[in-house]
Amino acid sequence: MPKPKVALYWCASCGGCEEAVVDLAERILDVVSLVDIVFWPVALDFKLTDVEAMPDQSIDVCFINGGIRSTENERVARLLRQKSKVVIAYGACSSWGGIPGLANLSNRQEILDWVYQAAPTNQNDEGVRPSVADANGVRLELPTLLARLEPLSAVIEVDYYIPGCPPTPDVTWKAIETILSGKLPERGSVIGADSKALCHSCPLNESKPEKVLIKEFRRVTEFTPDRSTCLLVQGLPCLGPVTRGGCGAPCVTGGMPCTGCFGALDRVDDFGAKAVTYLASILDIDDEKEIDKALSKVVDVVGLSYKYSLPASPLGGKLGITEEKP
Ligand code: SF4
Ligand code: SF4
Repeated sequence: MPKPKVALYWCASCGGCEEAVVDLAERILDVVSLVDIVFWPVALDFKLTDVEAMPDQSIDVCFINGGIRSTENERVARLLRQKSKVVIAYGACSSWGGIPGLANLSNRQEILDWVYQAAPTNQNDEGVRPSVADANGVRLELPTLLARLEPLSAVIEVDYYIPGCPPTPDVTWKAIETILSGKLPERGSVIGADSKALCHSCPLNESKPEKVLIKEFRRVTEFTPDRSTCLLVQGLPCLGPVTRGGCGAPCVTGGMPCTGCFGALDRVDDFGAKAVTYLASILDIDDEKEIDKALSKVVDVVGLSYKYSLPASPLGGKLGITEEKP
């Protein structure tokens, strides 16, 4: 029987999701023996023309990581959708936009101004910007930035989601086992992760009271948390109660609050709104001045609540920013 054909592609992300596949360590050899990798540009010398030449629906499973930020991301995602039976959004950026999605707080002009000019590490006296150029008679056409970063599902139909920033090796492996078993859940589901919140599998859960109430938020830079007590109880804004479990709680175990990279639980449309609502509900203060004081410790509300999900939220980004042509 022929082995399932698998493709992997990298859109707008840091590359951590590609690392996460390699992090399967010895299990990558099992994967390679069970499937036939037909496209994985970061690791093997395939060309886009190889994919273009494939018959439609000839790839059995395609893993796409990263959000859709450029015209190239969009073009390749559409091509891979056409050639694949099953498309999986692999990781937080592909699923909801991820950390690069926080760029939706600025328009394209502001992004280019900062990246090519204003950032203090730049030296660009001639004000060079990405452009179409002729080099030795060859016309180069660089991909352009889209108006906003979008999650993969904004441009193509996505069959399944594997969460994480990046997905852990165990989650990736569980998802691969599910795919190979052929016992796939309903389309649109998350695979490889839990259906319950992270707190359920957190090693500190026993020290978390039924109802958490705190008087102040604290920052990890202010003190060394007690590693045997729930971080939320200690005032750190841990998002474990509203985040899908399955990661093994590596951040919490290391003394860092969960920032929500496994995303929302089923039936939650807006992770950021859920996170803010939850944190507000545990603040046990009535006095307005004290509330302001407590909130002043949360220096980046959007970065905290929408760290991985701004493009997929109903807001999509900062409202009211004017769009200009890059
Ligand atoms: S709030 Fe955070 S530290 Fe506390 S039990 Fe949940 S995941 Fe663990
Ligand atoms: S603890 Fe939270 S932020 Fe850390 S890997 Fe798990 S879901 Fe992601």
